[in-house]
Amino acid sequence: MSDLKILTVNDPEQAKVLRSKSRKVAKVTPRLVALAQQMLETMRQANGVGLAAPQVGILQRFFVVELPADEENNLPAETYILFNPEIVKNAGEQIGYEGCLSIPGYIGEVARAEKVTIQGLDEKGHPVRYKAEGYLARVFQHELDHLDGILYTDRLTDPATFQRVEVGEEETREREIAIT
Ligand code: ZN
Repeated sequence: MSDLKILTVNDPEQAKVLRSKSRKVAKVTPRLVALAQQMLETMRQANGVGLAAPQVGILQRFFVVELPADEENNLPAETYILFNPEIVKNAGEQIGYEGCLSIPGYIGEVARAEKVTIQGLDEKGHPVRYKAEGYLARVFQHELDHLDGILYTDRLTDPATFQRVEVGEEETREREIAIT
């Protein structure tokens, strides 16, 4: 399989794909799982923490998320591959900055639910359910939006918060910005 290319809104044709609604995955096949693994690689190379299938031109409902290992606190990386994800419960509110691999070089402030319960299918096609809060909950909500053609810029608390930024890994970790 060739390398995956991350689509960006800078190209009108690619923007059209990013703005499309993805269809449900009929069956979790080995081919789709291999594709998800490849998306994880592509995401790591881009220093992202999440990547949804439409961002690589595949209009199907799945995404990958990986929170990097926290060596200071001895926490391993957390990796998620979710097919047909759905948020079944949400609570509270958090306000914070987000960036997107499909909108390179910018960040903006977005309000999200503080806690979500998300369910979907894992790599074996088995139902799974995760409870997430804070940063991880934010990433899940951002990824899920991609499957409906929604970008975080649609949800800015204020257009004035949308700003240019140099997205170095150091900086994104320091500021805890979800680049997904
Ligand atoms: Zn994104």
